[in-house]
Amino acid sequence: MNQQSGHVVIAGAGHAGGSAAAMLRQFGWQGAITLIGEEPIPPYQRPPLSKAWLKGEATAESLALRPASFYPSATIDLRLGVRVTGIDRAAKTVTLSAEGAEGGTLPYDYLILALGARARRLPLPGTDLGGVLELRSVADADQLKAALHPGARLAVIGGGYIGLEAAASARALGAEVTVIERESRVLARVACPILSDFFQAFHRGQGVTIEVDAQVAALEGVDGRVTGVRLGDGRLIPCDVALVGVGAVANDELARAAGLTCHNGVAVDLAARTDDPAIFAIGDCTSRPLPLYDRTGRLESVPNALEQAKQAASMICGKPAPTPEVPWFWSDQYDLRLQIAGIPFDTTEIAVRGDVEAGTFALFHLTADGTVQAVEAVNASTEFMGGRRIIARRKRLTRARIEDVSVSMQELAA
Ligand SMILES: Cc1cc2nc3c(=O)[nH]c(=O)nc-3n(C[C@H](O)[C@H](O)[C@H](O)COP(=O)(O)OP(=O)(O)OC[C@H]3O[C@@H](n4cnc5c(N)ncnc54)[C@H](O)[C@@H]3O)c2cc1C
Repeated sequence: MNQQSGHVVIAGAGHAGGSAAAMLRQFGWQGAITLIGEEPIPPYQRPPLSKAWLKGEATAESLALRPASFYPSATIDLRLGVRVTGIDRAAKTVTLSAEGAEGGTLPYDYLILALGARARRLPLPGTDLGGVLELRSVADADQLKAALHPGARLAVIGGGYIGLEAAASARALGAEVTVIERESRVLARVACPILSDFFQAFHRGQGVTIEVDAQVAALEGVDGRVTGVRLGDGRLIPCDVALVGVGAVANDELARAAGLTCHNGVAVDLAARTDDPAIFAIGDCTSRPLPLYDRTGRLESVPNALEQAKQAASMICGKPAPTPEVPWFWSDQYDLRLQIAGIPFDTTEIAVRGDVEAGTFALFHLTADGTVQAVEAVNASTEFMGGRRIIARRKRLTRARIEDVSVSMQELAA
């Protein structure tokens, strides 16, 4: 491809799409770049939406991925409020929801799908009531923020990261919070029981009511507005606002309709390539190889969005695919910073380094042969950083050695 004249179209102007556009320029792409996003604002960071933004501690400037002036200055044609509605792989065109100069279609030489994920909806009565919210976009966060004031009653359905972060922010704003979790512990899908117990106890200590093993039967309301969450056992959790945080679904329908392979996300390789050589896919909408673990999976995290944006931009600019990274993620709740590296597949043992009671610790997940697969670190960034290096090197360690704090992380990771 001629780097002077080719046209890269990026569908989805979120963290991955916005980053890919910038990286293409950074890596020397001189052809046209069109970045198409259905939201009305330039690419922004979602992590603060449940944290600083919800608490009113972040500005629009700090939320933005880059200043608005970046896109014209980098000659990136940013089209906002426009949805990509179809892909014609034979003609190499995408169809747009808004009529443009191209008569609603746009030709591409390379197409990058960066369509993200959407909040999973609950198939229950009452989810269409006013005050039943989700948290994915800045518009969602603003709606939630407007409802949170001292004494307001928030019911959070789902004790995952977004639900717990929103609960912590709502407490900071003086709201009364109940978290309703279907499983027997919060973070059941994403964290080990030690970590779940720690966060559960911490939230309770901050005045959050947590209902576990609780099925939601319906959302109930008066005059079209939610007034409570009815549980399967008949109890009613009264609320003024309900946040549904029960996971996210990959936006892979466009790719499916275009005949690209998808398994819970657009299937890509370690260079973000789909099975069409002209089409790449990056970020939350993908299902990707996890080479450390010999598996594929979908990752919903900023580091993954950046890693795959780099992969796609590298390939399009004729550079080698970057070395795969150890997956990682973070979550901030109250004054707790949780950082997770790796994924605890096939692990049989947990080494606890530090003091769980004191809220400064790291949990190392080991396989039967002592390979460290994952580290969950709470207010323990040295352990997190060292853990990432250990995981990348596939190092084997014993539980006793990890738990011995007289051995430094530097020694452990060496
Ligand atoms: C509240 C919240 C808190 C989070 N906290 C953390 C955290 O602490 N740490 C962390 O690592 N990750 C966190 N994440 C996850 C992280 O934000 C995502 O992994 C990241 O945004 C993924 O980037 P993406 O570009 O793939 O998707 P997105 O950022 O969702 O962007 C996709 C964009 O594509 C647009 N789009 C979709 N379909 C179309 C279409 N057909 N045409 C045009 N545009 C379309 C969407 O509107 C959206 O703007 C959080 C997410 C949320 C929602």
